[in-house]
Amino acid sequence: MTSPLWQAVLGEIELSVSRANYMTWFKNTSLVQQSDELIIIGVPNIFIKQQLEKKFNDIFITTLKNNGITPNRIEYKIVAPEAKNLEIEPILSEKIEPNRMSNNSSISQAYRQGLNERYSFDNFVVGAANELAFAACQSIAAVPGNKYNPLFLYGGVGIGKTHLVQAVGNELVRNNPGFKVLYITTEQFVQEFVESLRTRKTNEFATHYRSADVLIVDDIQFIAGKEKIQEEFFHTFNSLHQANKQIIISSDRLPKDIPTLEERLLSRFAWGMSIDMQNPDFETRCAIIQIKAQTNDVFLPNDVVDYLATNINTNVRELEGALNQLLAFCEMRSLEPNVDIAVSVLGNSHNRPKHLSAKQIIERTAKHFQVPVEDILGPKRDKDIVIPRQIAMYILRSELHLSFPKIARELGRKDHTTAIHSVEKIQKAAQLDSSLRSAISEIKERLYA
Ligand code: ADP
Ligand code: MG
Repeated sequence: MTSPLWQAVLGEIELSVSRANYMTWFKNTSLVQQSDELIIIGVPNIFIKQQLEKKFNDIFITTLKNNGITPNRIEYKIVAPEAKNLEIEPILSEKIEPNRMSNNSSISQAYRQGLNERYSFDNFVVGAANELAFAACQSIAAVPGNKYNPLFLYGGVGIGKTHLVQAVGNELVRNNPGFKVLYITTEQFVQEFVESLRTRKTNEFATHYRSADVLIVDDIQFIAGKEKIQEEFFHTFNSLHQANKQIIISSDRLPKDIPTLEERLLSRFAWGMSIDMQNPDFETRCAIIQIKAQTNDVFLPNDVVDYLATNINTNVRELEGALNQLLAFCEMRSLEPNVDIAVSVLGNSHNRPKHLSAKQIIERTAKHFQVPVEDILGPKRDKDIVIPRQIAMYILRSELHLSFPKIARELGRKDHTTAIHSVEKIQKAAQLDSSLRSAISEIKERLYA
């Protein structure tokens, strides 16, 4: 039996969220324990638990408060579902984790290790910035190991590298059941390798990767500075390449810009095709927003699409994040999205630099390039000091919107025209130079992390 309090709480929540949200997240909750200290809410599974904790905790607090309850803490506990709820569980988890559900057998698991069905060619929007990469990936999906081997995709964070390389993997598995497609992030590769050293199973490790039909290695830049792994990867690469197996590599920069990448790997990567992915242009950004809104069953008026595409022009991940924020906000309050709401919701998140100081920016930039802060603030004119200094100025301008005289002062310069030139220079150079772009976005990511 549901308690009267819980009936009241759910009744109120039902009125304030969308039907889809209510049915998915709230309907099957129950009140397990209630005291002034603590409310324990029963939930049917771990996934719902996480979502409620992450996204809907506040709505419980508010609604409980409306019903005269102000506990110090709310906890969520998984309780066995009542018989009537049993049927909804598999449907839900299937939707969320298609891989795990459909691949319980260890064989099919191994054939498509690491792939996530969420990424497909169908839901990838093609524009000038990524059409080359898209075409190459499609061609590989049709005939692997032939034309572009290895394929080396590079570009800044959040612009769709993982999406595309995963899409190739998914398409290949779909068309070639039994094909052994391995997707792995370089971080995982490193971890597994270290683990295999520890457990003395390096042979198994090597055999596993060398037996792939297609090997997809994401974010290879993380291999920098790791000699042993580079060596291991070199052998894996050779063995696969000799057997005409397809290798796909992604990176946030060109091979030559990955510090300490061994010469022999560098030359291997150059055997195939390197393709640069850029941040999508305005039209593509609009299309991406529309497709994502559609996937969420939400209608977005054109001016909202416009607003998002104009104001969030860093990368697709941020664009997606902003859209999700907007949709969540509207859904929780049962509002139709409009520009005013978008401005108020995203205006907030884009005031992010609140607690970011000029000092932090300068320090983070210095750290990124491994040069002393004193040098950046000092008189040195060496190239490896001047460029970080200019980038720091650029970020001060783009993130804190400081005036040029102020930027100059922060960097210990007297003349503010230096700041103007520096910012302009970096702005221009970043358009052409993808490694510069990724350096800047990495510094920014760290700043906001
Ligand atoms: P990267 O690996 O380059 O950092 P991701 O592939 O993770 O970037 O992309 C970030 C997010 O943006 C993902 O959710 C991805 O699905 C989405 N995305 C990126 N590019 C596109 C695109 N052209 N069309 C649709 N979604 C995209
Ligand atoms: Mg990625």
